[in-house]
Amino acid sequence: MTGTSLSSKPDRGGQAAPIVVLKFGGTSVADPKAMRRVAEIVRAAAVGGNRPVVVTSAMSKVTDGLLDVVRRAVAGHVNGAQDVMDGLIERHRAAAAELLAEPARREFDAVLGEASGNVTDLLRVVSRHPGTRLSLQDEIVAQGEHLASNLLALSLRAEGLPAFWVDARKVIITDEQHTRAIPLPDEIAAAFAQHVAPEVAQGQIAVLGGFIGSTLHGATTTLGRGGSDYSGALVGAALGAAEIQIWTDVSGFLTADPRVVSEARTIARLSYDEAAELAYFGAKVLHPRTILPAVAMGIPVRICNSREPDAAGTTIDDRREVSAQGIKAIAHKRGVTIVQVKAARMLGAYGFLHALFEVFDRHRTSVDIVATSEVSVSLTVDDPTALPAITSDLGALGEVQVEAGYAIVCAVGEGLRNTAGIAGRIFGALSGTNIALISQGASSTNLTFVVSEKDVEDVVKRLHERFFESPAPTTAPLAEAGARSKA
Ligand code: ASP
Repeated sequence: MTGTSLSSKPDRGGQAAPIVVLKFGGTSVADPKAMRRVAEIVRAAAVGGNRPVVVTSAMSKVTDGLLDVVRRAVAGHVNGAQDVMDGLIERHRAAAAELLAEPARREFDAVLGEASGNVTDLLRVVSRHPGTRLSLQDEIVAQGEHLASNLLALSLRAEGLPAFWVDARKVIITDEQHTRAIPLPDEIAAAFAQHVAPEVAQGQIAVLGGFIGSTLHGATTTLGRGGSDYSGALVGAALGAAEIQIWTDVSGFLTADPRVVSEARTIARLSYDEAAELAYFGAKVLHPRTILPAVAMGIPVRICNSREPDAAGTTIDDRREVSAQGIKAIAHKRGVTIVQVKAARMLGAYGFLHALFEVFDRHRTSVDIVATSEVSVSLTVDDPTALPAITSDLGALGEVQVEAGYAIVCAVGEGLRNTAGIAGRIFGALSGTNIALISQGASSTNLTFVVSEKDVEDVVKRLHERFFESPAPTTAPLAEAGARSKA
C-alpha cells in the first residue's frame, strides 16, 4: 500500500467493524464522473465505520463491445475485431487520463498494454480455431471487468482511499462451464481467507471485478450475463459480510412501473420471494437468483442508486413481512396470449394435462399461468413464436382457441394468501373490468390475473391508488415468522 489519507477503521472498541460489500454496476462506473461518485460512496461507507469491499462490473457497454469483438473474430474479421478492441482500450485510457496522475497513469497504461496484447493474440487463435470459442471468449470478455477493477482501484487510491486490487480469477473459483460457470463456494471461501481477508482486517479496501472467475486449473470463466451481482453475493458470503449493496441507476424496487404510475415509490423492504416475483415481471433491478448465496446465509442485500446515494433503496432479506395493505407492489406484463383447449375427454380422465404440457415442452415454450375447469384448460404464454406449431399439435387433444392482446397483472406481497378479504379488495377496485383468468395459491406471495391489454394501464393505476395512495405503508411481521425462512 502506498500513502493514503484514510484507512477504514478495522475495529470499533475491540469489535471488528462490519464488512459491507459494495457492488457497482456498469452505469455506476460508466465514466470518470461516475467513478468519482463511487469513490465518495466508498469513502462514506468507510467513514461510517464499515469495512468496504468493492466489486465492479465492466464500464457500461464494454461487455457488449467485447462480445462483438469475439463475434467478428469468429466470422474471420480479425481486423474489424481489433478495431473494436482498440476503441474499448482507448475509452479506458481516456478515463484514466482524467482520473489518474503519474505514476498511477503509467501503471494503468501497462495494464492496458497487456490486455490489448493478450486479446490480439487470442483473436488470431479464435479466428483460426472456432472450436476454442467459448473458453477464449471468456478470456476476452473478462477484460471488461479486469480493466474496470484495475482502474477503479487506482482511482480510489488517487482519492486517498487505501484500496488494493484483487484478481477476481484468483478468488472466484468455478467449475469448467465456460460462459455460465457455477461457483464453488468452499474453494471461494478458502481463497478469500488467504488472499483478501488479512488485508481487509487491516482496514484496506479490496477492489475486484465481478462476473469473472477461473477454474481450479486457472482457465478464465464468466458467470453469465449480469453475473457481477452474483459475484457480489459470493464475496459477501465468503467474507461473512453484514450487508451487500448493489449500486445501480435506480432506487430499488418500486410499487409499480413508474412509466404507468407516476406516484410509484420505492419499496423499503422485500422478502426474497417477493423480489423474485417482481423480477419475473420485468423489474430489471437485479436477478434474484444471483443473490441467493447471500440470502441463504441471512445477509441482507440492498439496492442503492449511485446517482442518489442518500436514498434508502430497497433491502431484500429473509424476513417475511406483511405490509399493512396486504400487498407491496403491482407488477404487469404486456404481450400475453391466452391459449384455451376444450376437451370433453378431459372429464375425469388422467394424463390429459401431461399430454398438453408435453406439447409446450416439445416446442420449448414456457407457460406462465394455468387455470383448469372440468372440460377446458386456459393458459398464457408470452412468447408466441412457436404458437402455430403448438396449436396444430394441441388440435389432437381438443378444440383450441388462441387469443392475443392480453396482459398479466400481479399483486405481490408476503402472506397474501392468508390475508382475509384481500382478493375482494383487489377485484373490488376493478369493478367493470373483464378479468380473463385468475391464479392464486401457487405461491403465497402473489395474486395474478389476466386482463385485456387495452385495460392494463387503467387496472394498474386503479390498484395503485387503492392500495398505495392512501396512508403510507407500515409493515408487521408475519404471524409465524419469528421463524426466518431460508430461501
Ligand atoms: N459486465 C457483465 C455484463 O454486462 C456482468 C455484469 O455487469 O453484471 O453482463
